[in-house]
Amino acid sequence: MESDSDGDSKWTIFRAATDMNDPQFTLGMKFATKQEFREAVQSYGFKNGKDIRTLRNDKERVVVECSLHGCPWRIGLRKVVNSHSWRILNMVDVHEGCTWAWENSMVKASVIAKRDAVCSKEGFYASDQQAYRAIWKAKKQRVGDDEDNFKKIWSYCAEMSRKNPKTTCVVKLSDLIAENGQNRFLRMYICWKASKLGFKHCRPLIGVDGCHLRCATTGMMLTAVSVDANDSLFPLAYAIKGLIPAFVDVLHGVEHRFCVKHLHANMKVAGFQGKALKDALWSCARATTLNSYNDSLRKLTALDEDAYQWLGDKSPSEWSTSHFSTHNHYDMLVNNICESFNLSLLVARDKPIIDCLETIRKMLMSKFFEKKTKGSWLEDTDMPNNCWKVEES
Ligand SMILES: [Zn+2]
Repeated sequence: MESDSDGDSKWTIFRAATDMNDPQFTLGMKFATKQEFREAVQSYGFKNGKDIRTLRNDKERVVVECSLHGCPWRIGLRKVVNSHSWRILNMVDVHEGCTWAWENSMVKASVIAKRDAVCSKEGFYASDQQAYRAIWKAKKQRVGDDEDNFKKIWSYCAEMSRKNPKTTCVVKLSDLIAENGQNRFLRMYICWKASKLGFKHCRPLIGVDGCHLRCATTGMMLTAVSVDANDSLFPLAYAIKGLIPAFVDVLHGVEHRFCVKHLHANMKVAGFQGKALKDALWSCARATTLNSYNDSLRKLTALDEDAYQWLGDKSPSEWSTSHFSTHNHYDMLVNNICESFNLSLLVARDKPIIDCLETIRKMLMSKFFEKKTKGSWLEDTDMPNNCWKVEES
């Protein structure tokens, strides 16, 4: 940056050629064009991992600020009177409470294309494999070392309990000792206060499903969801490894149901295959009365006595509509609802543990907020969970 030669020398001039890579803004800094300033802000966002948004952009002024709510970082640019140049008129160059912005709205195809253009200008050639490896490396750098991430779990948990005391966050270590003499991570369980409160108004039903984490330290992510009175998904809790025992112990009076699709998959693995058996199983599952259930079961027994024996271990109250209790007003047979929740976690599963947990937390927070806002104007009697209320009386 050089000083301003055309007059007041205390102001600096932004030199795109040298300053654009790592822009440092100062009060009074002069820009040749508005476009130059906007590019500098974009470059600053990239370099510092901040998501900057434009509040105002007209013939006279440009105002940008950090998009994280509550962060004071802000710059106001104004056109200099009778001149083509622009100048920083006011600024707060401090960030507060915002961490590295993963979802940077400033990452636009045009910017990426521009960076590519630089590469080809400099004569780089990258094979597909090189490009793939570059992506891997960049990903690693971006999220930090996976192992390091696991070490931060304790402070992450402590911070959660401090900011949100009614939330349950439990970390368990394994009895096994790792090479470095420390206990290995066994599992972590999180149930937010908002989930606990909300579950009181959900159908007394829990679906549990698992999916694999895809970071370098692989593991299982287990999710528990319920269904609200509006028949839409309601996230309850999630865990990294081992969740089902916790539910058997903790929640009485809540039904557990097997997903019939998975029951059938298990049946196939056990050696009972064929469409006839599959149809028989589904007709047992769909039976709404005890008589029709027994009829269907007789057909299944006639097809394969061993399959009947195999099914005998599983209580029909966990997979057939005929044996479901009526008090939860819901006859979900397939765990679709869990699976759709897991699908929405796809992005999170790709990241190391802390980033993964943070992504889920943010997702849940906006989901709960959205539901709360939507429901806040409804009268008590309009509430879609009437069936639940009638039930209680
Ligand atoms: Zn900020």
